[in-house]
Amino acid sequence: MPPRHEESRAIPLRGPDGVRPMHRVRPLEFQTIIEPFRIKSVEPLRFTTVDEREQLLGRAGYNLFHLRAEDVLIDLLTDSGTGAMSTEQWAGMMRGDESYAGSRSYLRFLEVVQELTGFEHILPTHQGRAAERILFGEVVRPGHVVPNNTHFDTTRANIEHFAGLPADLVIPEGMRPSDEHPFKGNVDVERLEQSLREHGRERVPLVMVTVTNNSGGGQPVSLENLRAVRRVCDRWGVPLFLDACRFAENAWFIKQREPGQSHRSPRDIAREMFRLADGATFSAKKDGLANIGGFLAMNDEALAERCRNNLILTEGFPSYGGLAGYDLEAIAQGLREVTEEDYLRYRVRGVEYLWEKLDAAGIPLVRPAGGHAVYVDAKALLPHVPPEQYPAQSLAVELYRAGGVRSVEIGSVMFGRPRPDGTEEPAPMELVRLAIPRRVYTQSHIDYVAEVAVAVADRARELRGYRFTEAPRVLRHFSARFEPLATQAAECLSG
Ligand SMILES: *Cc1c(COP(=O)(O)O)cnc(C)c1O
Repeated sequence: MPPRHEESRAIPLRGPDGVRPMHRVRPLEFQTIIEPFRIKSVEPLRFTTVDEREQLLGRAGYNLFHLRAEDVLIDLLTDSGTGAMSTEQWAGMMRGDESYAGSRSYLRFLEVVQELTGFEHILPTHQGRAAERILFGEVVRPGHVVPNNTHFDTTRANIEHFAGLPADLVIPEGMRPSDEHPFKGNVDVERLEQSLREHGRERVPLVMVTVTNNSGGGQPVSLENLRAVRRVCDRWGVPLFLDACRFAENAWFIKQREPGQSHRSPRDIAREMFRLADGATFSAKKDGLANIGGFLAMNDEALAERCRNNLILTEGFPSYGGLAGYDLEAIAQGLREVTEEDYLRYRVRGVEYLWEKLDAAGIPLVRPAGGHAVYVDAKALLPHVPPEQYPAQSLAVELYRAGGVRSVEIGSVMFGRPRPDGTEEPAPMELVRLAIPRRVYTQSHIDYVAEVAVAVADRARELRGYRFTEAPRVLRHFSARFEPLATQAAECLSG
């Protein structure tokens, strides 16, 4: 307990200059959460005008993936690999040992990952999806079912590549943007049990849980839910793997929201999360605080041996997995820093801060704020633009046109599916994701983003839909081109 003022008045302490006495008084408590770093190296932003951005959009076929990054003022396209590294990470990179086998950097990486996860076998990979390809290549056979809360797109694609069937079994709240729930990423344990009963352990090679649930809005999974999933897996004798890309943000949410967890350190919680599983896939581009890298980890020795042999085919030797020694150093240090409380408080609060500003302005959002991104519900904001005219694409384009802010459409452009009759099955949700890179933007950048978003939302009714002019069959959102449906409306907007 802090000393009371009167009691302490009598005890003068020496000040830093050794002369002026200081009085011990109750420490003041401050509310402002500041960035827990200062900036040593800066990357200038390039400002563009609305006119320039209109031209750039035209040239890009209204696809934000076609823009050059230097033409973007605030880039919230993704939080993957876009974070800023710390001085210790850069220093580690200088110490990188580039020996082909058994390098010092690999051993350091191994030590950190094993301390954190507790897994026996750790295979570095160049990204998360490489870990997925290797794992599913070894365990998924045609007709196999892989349950998850919500499969991330690369996870889903890798399972389907091996003719497996991804099953999304998130709780019903996780599918409804406006529902409030502290752990909207939780697995529906009832449906998981049902899925195992239906397919049997022969057809379910493993169960996955994605922490946080990226495709479901960056929503966390509770420890209680992970334990319940663990019990189901034990009963059926099926291994449990985490898709652990954002494990630290998930651990922070558990500390904040789960009864009985607030006294624990995020690292302690993260260590328990990993120990509830038999293995994990990981992208170091997220909570590894690195620009590239990942790993595949597990306890099963025989499976690890098969995965190592598979890894050699495409990733290189198992002690570097497609990475340079210096990348392994950056990841090892990043995995130490990412569970620091000051970092996580700033990180999650930063996202929530943007969320609150947009919410206060009445912009419909996925609720509550996710760990790495704010998701705007474009279907609700632009009710006059039907899904067939891509409301989330329209909103994303306008955020760039109006303020130079790049976001990403997660709706029918990305997930619309052609029907046999030539029309299109729209995606279940039309979202615009504003993903926040780690340690990159300051509060004033976020204030600016909120200002742009609120101004655009105020004129939402003027926004018009888009149509495809070019749409490749596979992953079309990356390379498609569009045109606005009503040019007249676009002209009146630029005034
Ligand atoms: C990013 C991500 C992946 C894939 O990782 P990459 O490094 O991009 O290959 C897998 N799962 C989730 C949940 C992710 O967010």
